[in-house]
Amino acid sequence: MHYLDHAATTPVPREVAETMASVLTEHFGNPSAQYGPGREARDIVERGRAVLARALECRPEQVVFTSCGTEGDNWAIRAALYQNRRTGKHIVTTAVEHSAVLQCVKQLEREGYTATYVKPDGEGRVSAQSVLAAVREDTALVSVMLVNNETGAVLPVSEIAAGLRDRPALLHTDAVQGFLKVPCTARGLEADYITLSAHKIGGPKGIGALYIGGQAKNALPLLFGGGQESGLRPGTEATAQIAGFAKAAELRMARQEEICAHMAACRDCARESLAAIPDLRFVGPGDAPHILSVSLPGYPSQNIVSELDGRGIYISAGSACHRGKASHVLTAMGLDKRTAAGTVRISFGPETTREDIDALAEALAEHRERRFPML
Ligand code: PLP
Repeated sequence: MHYLDHAATTPVPREVAETMASVLTEHFGNPSAQYGPGREARDIVERGRAVLARALECRPEQVVFTSCGTEGDNWAIRAALYQNRRTGKHIVTTAVEHSAVLQCVKQLEREGYTATYVKPDGEGRVSAQSVLAAVREDTALVSVMLVNNETGAVLPVSEIAAGLRDRPALLHTDAVQGFLKVPCTARGLEADYITLSAHKIGGPKGIGALYIGGQAKNALPLLFGGGQESGLRPGTEATAQIAGFAKAAELRMARQEEICAHMAACRDCARESLAAIPDLRFVGPGDAPHILSVSLPGYPSQNIVSELDGRGIYISAGSACHRGKASHVLTAMGLDKRTAAGTVRISFGPETTREDIDALAEALAEHRERRFPML
């Protein structure tokens, strides 16, 4: 099989699965329990937190585990608005955010907040100037993702942070696609909230983390219940998932430069091979090492994806999260309908090989040759 959809989710390395299995079977205690197995489980949670803190170059107490990236995004947004409730009810975000941010902000609009959605340019890039120009006196929150999941564009989070230094607005960044792929430290980004998710870096699904630092204070919980995670995120800690998240992060950190260089080489190699296909267009800037977005204008992406599926090659139509619907990201970039409808996302990981890329290039070229444009 040729798995080329690492931005949707990643294979879990054997070491990660084994770490999780040993936690499930041997260290099943409740981390809140006072006796031996409870203390062992607590150690696993705290060791996991320390690993993520090392990756983000922050203090362990600034990292809180969540159930996924979506939860982290929703929580950060609501916590920031609550903290800054006296500043106002205006939110600045971008039109290219993941739906975990966009749909949360849309709901907040229904609850009485107002929002400005900053548009990208035709390549999918968003300038710091355009974000900062949208900030008003009553802006309580700016939420800008680090890496776009459809185009691989890297957004200028630290430049936005610098522009917000003297403003009351808090800054959240959804770093789910950027973590361990592009520079992503708490000090470097200077964001008050940073959302992470494990399953994009070789960890299990169903576990994420939120960095809460900078000007963020006394974060309002999203859920109310027990005192876990210092009372910030109640619910018995998902010890096996936390251990798997930490193991995956450690494996990536140990070879981070090599893995990023490998993914970038795969992206560049795919770009070169696919450039030979007549009419094929590259969509987006391809900044991030792991994402390449291309279009065969007029050839519906769903058909491309299903034909490649039949050949054991797995890529996604735009974004796996928006199956069947026109992508809001491509629409915001102003792509014409034929180009947007023909866009597929190819994404790479440490396991990607030259054979995967050759198989993809051959299959896409054959699709272009054999099928007729339908749009
Ligand atoms: N943010 C971005 C940019 C993503 O790509 C994703 C997942 O596709 C998410 C948030 C949601 O993360 P999770 O699947 O852990 O909820």
